[in-house]
Amino acid sequence: MSTKAYLQSVMDGVKKKDPAEQLFHQAVEEVLITLEPILDAQPKYMQNAIVERMVEPERVITFRVPWTDDKGQIHINRGYRVQFNSAIGPYKGGLRFHETVALSTLKFLGFEQTFKNSLTGLPMGGGKGGSDFDTRGKSEAEVMRYCQAFMTELYRHIGENTDVPAGDLGLGGREIGYLFGQYKKITNRYVGVLTGKGLEFGGSLIRTEATGYGVVYFAEEMMKLRGDSLKGKTCIISGAGNVGIHTAEKLLELGAKVVGMSDYSGAVYDEEGLTTEKIAYLKDLIFNKRGLLTEYVKKYTGAKHLPGKKSWSIPCYAAFPTSRENELDGNDAKELLKNGCKLVCEGANMPCSPEAITAFQQAKILYAPGKAANAGGVACSGLEMTQNSIRLSWTREEVDAHLHKIMQHIHSSCVNAYKEFGTDGDYLLGANIAGFKKVADAMLAQGIV
Ligand code: GLU
Repeated sequence: MSTKAYLQSVMDGVKKKDPAEQLFHQAVEEVLITLEPILDAQPKYMQNAIVERMVEPERVITFRVPWTDDKGQIHINRGYRVQFNSAIGPYKGGLRFHETVALSTLKFLGFEQTFKNSLTGLPMGGGKGGSDFDTRGKSEAEVMRYCQAFMTELYRHIGENTDVPAGDLGLGGREIGYLFGQYKKITNRYVGVLTGKGLEFGGSLIRTEATGYGVVYFAEEMMKLRGDSLKGKTCIISGAGNVGIHTAEKLLELGAKVVGMSDYSGAVYDEEGLTTEKIAYLKDLIFNKRGLLTEYVKKYTGAKHLPGKKSWSIPCYAAFPTSRENELDGNDAKELLKNGCKLVCEGANMPCSPEAITAFQQAKILYAPGKAANAGGVACSGLEMTQNSIRLSWTREEVDAHLHKIMQHIHSSCVNAYKEFGTDGDYLLGANIAGFKKVADAMLAQGIV
């Protein structure tokens, strides 16, 4: 059987086993289509069924989460933890709280996480979890009770050397605090079992900023390799959450001009560009007041609000999707390209649809997949685990220097892999192959387990 046919048969097998899990299929396909050259070069991976093993999670846990709202009404939600791959370290990856969460979502995220974590160079396996619960519209007390109910089951499956969850969409520092408190209460152990913790109880400086900063460090490396930089370039961002805002902040620091952001109210086009003052306002609006971008245009009247729109119609040199999966489709890609976009760097997980990726590749613009470009978040989680283990806290400068180095290392791993196995500038292939190799070699060494 040719390698191509073999990869197709693995893909068919995945679809046959779980026909409804489309997001998972998409994530697997995005990897499998790039693995042919390394499988050809190293027959041992096919002989040992490494790819078949990698697409099957090691363990999937689902559980009932019963809780009571403020009126005394009982609700039942579903909790999950997908422990995808532990070849190179304890399972590591976030928890997502969102009404759309289903097993397919978490399998796609857990699969991606395995490659992403491998790319960081830190000893972390891949996992993901969460629940079909939305914190929006819930009271503070309801959110706390939900986190406690969720942890009352999750605690038996995790541990600082087993599986270390963190945040993801809909689950931030507030929820991590409640989850940590409940874990400690049940187990009577004070350990680094979660990352993204508050600074007072074992959190790391820069963890909040890390994903966004890392995305920009990665984009800057792509530019640097081509004798250019982000300085003076017009940029747009989708999303206005933790990743989006810190992407904007670092872009500004490097001298780029950020003219667009978005949230679920629509997009904001601020032709004059964000400033440090505007970013400080956004941080307060979004993180403290949990407000929407509609407020931004009331304060900064030069900016336009585009209701219900995403940022992709705003002309730019570089685009940073930081919101969620498939938020940038084939038509959005065409619009970006028509307006002169030359670089797309993913801050979210799988935000570009397969059609969008193909369009970027055909247009030969720079495209960085999330598993490489947004790895700064989990990398900083790895640094939090290190600090917890040695019972020390590093300074901002120390953590940021580590983060910067890790992003440079990820960039050069992608470049080395595409030089050896693909074509110049193919960061998707580079990231997949570099991430795959380390996990595959560890699995080979550990035998059939
Ligand atoms: N949820 C983030 C990600 O997609 C962070 C995971 C973590 O810090 O463990 O990488």
